[in-house]
Amino acid sequence: MEKRCISSLDLEQLTGLMKELGQPGFRAKQIFHWLHQKLVTEFSQMTDQPKALLARLEEGWYIAAPAVRRKQVSKDGTVKYLLELADGNCIETVLMRYHYGNTVCVSTQVGCRMGCRFCASTQAGRVRNLEAGEIAAEIYTAQRDSGERVSHIVLMGIGEPLDNYDEVLKFLRLISHPEGVNIGMRNISLSTCGLVPMILRLAQEKLQITLSISLHAPNNSMRSSMMPVNDAYPVEELIAACRQYQKITGRRISFEYSMVRGVNDSPATARELAKLIQGMGAHVNLIPINPVDGSPYSATDTDNVKRFQADLEKLGVNATIRRRLGSDISAACGQLRREEINSRKEVTE
Ligand code: SAH
Repeated sequence: MEKRCISSLDLEQLTGLMKELGQPGFRAKQIFHWLHQKLVTEFSQMTDQPKALLARLEEGWYIAAPAVRRKQVSKDGTVKYLLELADGNCIETVLMRYHYGNTVCVSTQVGCRMGCRFCASTQAGRVRNLEAGEIAAEIYTAQRDSGERVSHIVLMGIGEPLDNYDEVLKFLRLISHPEGVNIGMRNISLSTCGLVPMILRLAQEKLQITLSISLHAPNNSMRSSMMPVNDAYPVEELIAACRQYQKITGRRISFEYSMVRGVNDSPATARELAKLIQGMGAHVNLIPINPVDGSPYSATDTDNVKRFQADLEKLGVNATIRRRLGSDISAACGQLRREEINSRKEVTE
């Protein structure tokens, strides 16, 4: 029998499991503490639990505890991990140190099927979704490895979070649970390439997270040339969904805008972008594209990024230029995993 991941169970499900195993209900909370507060990686570390219970758990369950296969540390303190999951698949997790605290960037899928033309994570497609407990374990691994508390999370690693909706929602509830590491929803940003029906569904959950939209272009021809998802959910539908999201949740949206030389960085495009998102009070994050192998794109130079920012500000749109942490360790997501996949291919070929 294949073992299941106990780290993915919420408190209610753990309580159910304890009942099934003929245990008192309070054990569920104790085990939840071991998993999500004390961050143990083996059942034997749960020292206040009966040995017989631990043996039963061991038979059918495992704790998500990915192995650190590679680790790169940047001059600015950013740490990038290549993590190996229980089934041998690899994902990437990045720990960034900001003045307001440590932020971990998590992957939500093994690979991605969205096909954005500038992105390394999608080049080999999607292998599978991550479970809630596996996503949480990315944070626990960074916390254990660094010995420092993680206070903020961004869902901006490998994968499209809204293409793995149920597990991502479960993850958000696990990680913000008062009996766990208790990272507040307000300290969590979820980034999506723009799956409109899922944005509308997420709005109904009324979470306090920040929703970040990977916009990258203000019109359909430009956006479709960069992101195939735009053919399914064009710009006007996406922006309508964003306005709806803001109305329902009362939370401001932020837009990611990766700048590609000669594609989406002209003054006319800045004006078009400003017009598109006018009146939303939204925030635009500008970031020069990080060129990946096999992509036709190169980055807008710094002066042009600054000019684009000034143009937006003049038109009343709040814009910042994202600091590129970890640029010396190829921290653009997907690159380490791709190197790993390529090197394995070389071994098997
Ligand atoms: N799938 C989600 C989250 C993962 S990507 C999404 O699309 O939002 C996180 C952010 O990095 C997205 O805004 C994505 O468009 C951007 N991105 C991906 N590859 C990039 C690259 N090579 N250079 C700059 N930004 C990139």
